[in-house]
Amino acid sequence: MTVLIAGGGISGLALALSCHQVGIPFQVFESAARMRPLGVGINLQPSAVRELFALGLEDRLDEVGIRLKDYGFYTKKGLHVWTEPRGHDAGYDWPAYSVHRGRLHMMLYDEVIRRAGPDAVQTGWKATGFAQEDNAAVLSLSSRDGQSKTVRGDVIIGADGIHSAIRSQMQPQEAAPKWSGAVLWRGTTQAKPFLSGASMVLIGHEGLRFVSYPISAPDPQTELATINWICNLQVDKADAFRKEDYSRAANLDDFLPAFEQIKFDWLDAPALIRATDEVFEYPMVDRDPLDSWTVGRTTLMGDAAHAAYPVGSNGAGAGITDARKLVARFLQHGLTEDALQAYEAEMLPATSKIILMNRSAGPDKILDVVEQRCGGQFERIEDVIPHAEMAEHAAAYKRAAGYGIAETNDAPPIIPADARFTPAV
Ligand SMILES: Cc1cc2nc3c(=O)[nH]c(=O)nc-3n(C[C@H](O)[C@H](O)[C@H](O)COP(=O)(O)OP(=O)(O)OC[C@H]3O[C@@H](n4cnc5c(N)ncnc54)[C@H](O)[C@@H]3O)c2cc1C
Repeated sequence: MTVLIAGGGISGLALALSCHQVGIPFQVFESAARMRPLGVGINLQPSAVRELFALGLEDRLDEVGIRLKDYGFYTKKGLHVWTEPRGHDAGYDWPAYSVHRGRLHMMLYDEVIRRAGPDAVQTGWKATGFAQEDNAAVLSLSSRDGQSKTVRGDVIIGADGIHSAIRSQMQPQEAAPKWSGAVLWRGTTQAKPFLSGASMVLIGHEGLRFVSYPISAPDPQTELATINWICNLQVDKADAFRKEDYSRAANLDDFLPAFEQIKFDWLDAPALIRATDEVFEYPMVDRDPLDSWTVGRTTLMGDAAHAAYPVGSNGAGAGITDARKLVARFLQHGLTEDALQAYEAEMLPATSKIILMNRSAGPDKILDVVEQRCGGQFERIEDVIPHAEMAEHAAAYKRAAGYGIAETNDAPPIIPADARFTPAV
């Protein structure tokens, strides 16, 4: 009796830890030859943090990230539009975190190995397809040195990211991820934190947006923290974009000139960019929502199921939520097709809505409205957009994305603390 997990990213490892928590046997297969701390900064909303705390990871999260205090919008001229508290300060029972994706990933990996043993994750094995027998799901794998094998389990979970091999077998007609026409340049720099010291800021508007937040506490001696930054620039859509690869090195000349103007007394974007050792380039892509993502004993989770534009600070959180919901359904229905169908019925509509919303009405939509109404220049923000309109947009996005304050605090635990899996006899 086993859950076969194809992909050892944040979603796959959150599923592994959740299976282990309740006593479900699992096996993770990861295509990378070894786990490495890749990526730059990401955010975890309280709804996902709640699930990581339920897995006993509170202290570990504090080691790898910092608790986000506030989230603010500014025009490209540096005028303040909106700030809201985040995490505990906003009234959630759990904090929000800003964290290096690679440090979070490695922490989850260490915990899987520590709790479930070194064989729980097999690296260097790429999932290539799935099949079904009467009472088993069959996962096909190939190794970097040309070996191949099949493994049998009760269910297969495709957690293999935006280029999922499991998804492409389910959806052979599906084209490459959809490009918005924007490119993201991303990096981290050692610098003094700005504003509250744990602030996330979004500056500019659609087509020219700078996002930044610290992902570590400041060093007590130097007062420098690791500051994550993202430049989001609309480019000529006629240019062929380079296929998405999270580790592609970037050329500063392609974007820095557009961000020279993002220089205020509290934040100097060009200086942050110039001081960065490694800058990465990634096209802003997503995938269309699917009508279904389960075939028999095989289903999808995380980016494999519902890759959305990274504008709502919730990509990793959505994969963590999937993991918890899947295990909740395993507890209810066993490792069965019914469990996968029940999981899909709940998560597919919710995540499809997020994909569509992130295309047109992400939380930062407010900045676009301000730009359209006044070109980013105003005396009083209330004359451009009423505070109530901004508050309603912010609250509506959080509710729709599954991290509304009341909805998070009032929801019963997805997996009860004392839950144990009882195999069917
Ligand atoms: C290297 C990397 C760097 C990233 N950096 C950032 C970042 O800086 N900012 C950001 O917002 N998001 C980043 N992301 C995406 C972010 O991690 C996801 O959006 C989110 O965490 C959901 O994670 P996921 O586990 O569903 O997918 P992913 O994080 O993409 O994980 C998928 C995992 O599956 C593995 N895999 C892929 N194909 C196969 C296969 N056929 N068989 C077995 N294993 C397979 C991959 O190596 C990866 O470990 C990054 C993803 C990766 C893989």
